[in-house]
Amino acid sequence: SEMRQSRIRRTKTVCTYCGVGCSFDIWTKDRHILKVEPEHGAVNGISTCVKGKFGWDFVNSKDRLTKPLLREGNTFREATWEEAFARVAARLAEIRNRDGADAIGLISSSKCSNEESYLMQKLARAVVGTNNIDNCSRYCQAPATMGLFRTVGYGGDSGSVADISQADLVLIVGSNTAESHPVIATRIKSAHKLRGQKLIVSDLREHEMARRADLFIRPRPGTDLIWLSAITRYLIDQGKSAKAFLNQWVNGFDAYYQSLEPFTLEYAEAMTGISIDTLKQLADMIARSQRMVICWAMGVTQHSMGSATSTAISNLLLVTGNYMRPGTGAYPLRGHNNVQGASDLGSMPNMLPGYQHVDDPEVRQRFEEAWGNPLPTTQGLDNHEMIGAILDGQLKAMYLCGEEMSLVDADANLVQQAFSQLEFLVVQDVFFSHTCQFADVVLPASPSLEKEGTFTNTERRIQRFYQVLEPLGDSRPDWQIIQGVANALGANWDYSHPSEIMSEVAGLTPLLAGVSYERLAGYQTQQWPVAADGTGEPLLYTEGFAFPDSKARLYPVEWTEPVDQPNEEFDLHLNNGNLLEHFHEGNLTYRVPGIREKTPEVFVEVSPELARERNLVSGTRVELTSRYGQLQVRVLVTDRVHGKQLYMPMNSTESPVNVLIGSNTDPVTHTPAYKEASVRMRVLRNE
Ligand code: SF4
Repeated sequence: SEMRQSRIRRTKTVCTYCGVGCSFDIWTKDRHILKVEPEHGAVNGISTCVKGKFGWDFVNSKDRLTKPLLREGNTFREATWEEAFARVAARLAEIRNRDGADAIGLISSSKCSNEESYLMQKLARAVVGTNNIDNCSRYCQAPATMGLFRTVGYGGDSGSVADISQADLVLIVGSNTAESHPVIATRIKSAHKLRGQKLIVSDLREHEMARRADLFIRPRPGTDLIWLSAITRYLIDQGKSAKAFLNQWVNGFDAYYQSLEPFTLEYAEAMTGISIDTLKQLADMIARSQRMVICWAMGVTQHSMGSATSTAISNLLLVTGNYMRPGTGAYPLRGHNNVQGASDLGSMPNMLPGYQHVDDPEVRQRFEEAWGNPLPTTQGLDNHEMIGAILDGQLKAMYLCGEEMSLVDADANLVQQAFSQLEFLVVQDVFFSHTCQFADVVLPASPSLEKEGTFTNTERRIQRFYQVLEPLGDSRPDWQIIQGVANALGANWDYSHPSEIMSEVAGLTPLLAGVSYERLAGYQTQQWPVAADGTGEPLLYTEGFAFPDSKARLYPVEWTEPVDQPNEEFDLHLNNGNLLEHFHEGNLTYRVPGIREKTPEVFVEVSPELARERNLVSGTRVELTSRYGQLQVRVLVTDRVHGKQLYMPMNSTESPVNVLIGSNTDPVTHTPAYKEASVRMRVLRNE
């Protein structure tokens, strides 16, 4: 029995299933996961949701990649790491010598660790020689970050998750918080119930938080900017703006107020479908509150107006003085566990780690001295531009780290066409993903439980995760693989542990100056900006905003029509989002047997009205066709959706909703307008 006891281990880890960043201990016996035990997580205390609690059996899936794979004609053969690194280096060097470094693009993963994101952008810049590096926050959170960069200066949540409980009003816009960020939703639910916190929800779909809300509004698709700006103008005109705060802390009022001119309540009612009375009620609730938090997510950002609407949200917070105190501020809710960290660590075409610009010679010089190589001086391509550049024949090779890009990018058919045109594609992943079928080399990576590192959650909190299991088969932690590729290309990296990578980061990145593995030991955490002495900032803006004069900036707004509007041919609006049980495209969670059984098949939600009109019942098979693609799916009739609006979970590798989505984007960030899609529906009666 002693023998058996000694095989039982307890290791602290951080959940990888959403941006909340719950920490807990995992109990294992050999490779068997016995239980998850939340104890003193900085964000979650003793709670977790179903994904964190049960979502780990995929690590032992028989589908795991355990050997590097090299393409031979139409198939792959297993190879050693030496062969794989040699093949990757030889092909990348050949393409670089022939077409230049900018013919190569790299994508880092917002599921990987901070250290791995850092190495991926270092590989791109210092070894390959290009700024063509990006991460998937472009698909979700870049517009939120832009709205905050413009107005308050930092692209992060203004406070901690715990602070949300101190608000007396929470406004949720376009976030299915109960399913996408369950532990944050739990906090809001309990403050609502126990402390009388008020809750306003704006969404197309009446999800759980909408049902609980004191006020639920359902604006027409693509019109959030209008009602947000109209109530802001109304509050100013009623003398209910925070005048002292505006005088002391905010620039740009006049130009901003001018831009509000079209946004009267009458106009807002006509455009959004929300009555003037309701808009006034909403504005009054905001005016009466002392502390308001606004949470938003992809229902806002994945629009052609994603950046503009995120800006309108921050403007409203500034006009009402809702920054600089706990229980106030902007909370863009991050999707992947390390979306925040991937951007913080410089996996972006225009920024080095810590949001330092690539075109700033002083910044570049500091990195060049540390890295020992000249760095590219001009901004690179973002992931959306990379797809265009492949189709134009400019981009010849890509190296994807943990990105299921052929399914998760918008207009999936076009992306797949681009990938089949690439001369050379490397895909590094835990499973043979859909994207792997386009690869020339597949590199088997180890998931978080098989390595060490840090993640940064939605509230800028950096947390360590420890190794629970040995890497399966020949799979390796991503940081070791990236180092292998760099060295095969002639670099001389010798990191033997992720802590050495973090020390290098801290030395080069003022935002993370005092971050260290010692200070993050066990359940300890740090929230950026972290000063050299290690102290962090639970509340982002205490002595002003992140601009040279410490003042925030109101930023003028303008509304434009959504790009893909329903018409006679495509008469239904299609919305999409997360399901509680699954994680994004489902590559991990579909391999957890217990979760697979609960939600085996993807469905499309149809309103009772539409079901009556088209003679549909739950289970009817339909074919959805958009301007871009087609898929078949079963109907689920529910009053969560209304009218001619449909909703499909994004969690399917078999019927990926993205084949229906066009490649229109937010012009500022190039985030696809996933939420602007119109389709027609054909009933497949006899199938
Ligand atoms: Fe994991 Fe998010 Fe659930 Fe926490 S709320 S357990 S981080 S999926």
